[in-house]
Amino acid sequence: MSNQIFVVVEHLKGNIEDITFEMLGKGKEIAGANGGELVAVLLGSGVDGLAGKLGAADKVIYVDDATLAEYNPQSYCKAVSAVVAANQPKMVLIGNTSMGMDIAVGVSVDNNMPFIAYASGISPDGGTITSSLYGGKMNVDYSPAKDGYVVSVIAGSFPADAGRVEGSPAVETASVDIGELAVQFKALIEPEGGDVDITTQEILVSVGRGIQSDENLPLAEELAAKLGGAISCSRPIVDSKWLAKTRQVGKSGLKVKPKLYLALGISGAPEHIEGMKEADLIIAVNTDPKAPIFDYAHYGVVQDLFDFIPALSGKL
Ligand SMILES: Cc1cc2nc3c(=O)[nH]c(=O)nc-3n(C[C@H](O)[C@H](O)[C@H](O)COP(=O)(O)OP(=O)(O)OC[C@H]3O[C@@H](n4cnc5c(N)ncnc54)[C@H](O)[C@@H]3O)c2cc1C
Repeated sequence: MSNQIFVVVEHLKGNIEDITFEMLGKGKEIAGANGGELVAVLLGSGVDGLAGKLGAADKVIYVDDATLAEYNPQSYCKAVSAVVAANQPKMVLIGNTSMGMDIAVGVSVDNNMPFIAYASGISPDGGTITSSLYGGKMNVDYSPAKDGYVVSVIAGSFPADAGRVEGSPAVETASVDIGELAVQFKALIEPEGGDVDITTQEILVSVGRGIQSDENLPLAEELAAKLGGAISCSRPIVDSKWLAKTRQVGKSGLKVKPKLYLALGISGAPEHIEGMKEADLIIAVNTDPKAPIFDYAHYGVVQDLFDFIPALSGKL
């Protein structure tokens, strides 16, 4: 077993996803505590230029293959498994994302390594991993008995800035025999265009069931416009077809990290909290003083949102 910490790089259309930088930042801390090496595992075809964005890593292992040009769970899994088998790292960090979960399971099975999913915390030395189960209702700490395990990290668990370092890490090219593939890439289906990307907004005015009717949405939209932000929502609002799925925050929606998250009439279910708890400033407005959202809000207003919105809009 080596003293390497592996981070599997997630990228799409030339952009490295934030989750990769989060894991690189955390991986650097763990590698530092153990006198180990942080290794970014980059897969693709003709994407070696991305190595310059992985400066937090001591080394990049790059696998270039035509079957890795587009994401394919089978070829990606085979490539990561082979690189892991050849290097025997102490720990493999993979995003707890749609792509990462495909890969993590296969790497764990192929290499007979324990797999700890839903990681929301890792101790500085990597010895204890906190897994957030049942949509965040229960946290379990694992201390693996021996080195050599796979950990999938929930996006938003660690600061991305710590791993967002440009540089020129050493690049080692690895060739892997991908072999026959039963799964073929057909097409990338992009989300419907034309809507605001709530993950890039600095200010979000988010509405929940407390808004009561779609006829009341313009009130919140007007407030969002005055604040220079956009409107987002909890799942029941999307289920009722009052707003598009692209506006949903949470476990089955999008993870957001705005500077301000103003939650209006949202109770704070774990599935919602999972998507917004990393916001810099959370202000919650709810008539129920015991609403769980107040456990996460930096400021809480116990008030009817229909009184709050006009009062704040008036001030603005
Ligand atoms: C697998 C799974 C995935 C899920 N994914 C998501 C997800 O991605 N995102 C998500 O949001 N949910 C998700 N959910 C649903 C989640 O469990 C909750 O049901 C949902 O978040 C509740 O939405 P809410 O807070 O708007 O509604 P409620 O829980 O009904 O809360 C409404 C709140 O509004 C307050 N209120 C009512 N009237 C007013 C008023 N006039 N002024 C001020 N406050 C008022 C009430 O006190 C209450 O706290 C998921 C559930 C499951 C099982």
